[in-house]
Amino acid sequence: MASVTDDVREDDGGDPACWLRRVCPACGRLADVDPPVRCAACGELLPAD
Ligand SMILES: [Zn+2]
Repeated sequence: MASVTDDVREDDGGDPACWLRRVCPACGRLADVDPPVRCAACGELLPAD
């Protein structure tokens, strides 16, 4: 039986900053996970803020 993945959630009224902070300041790539993390494309460190 296939389980339903719950990775697509409706976040009505959610804070866009929650994903904007994942955007690499150097190249604009969207990180796969929340910071702190290094950009997979250019290696820039995305600070946890
Ligand atoms: Zn980058």
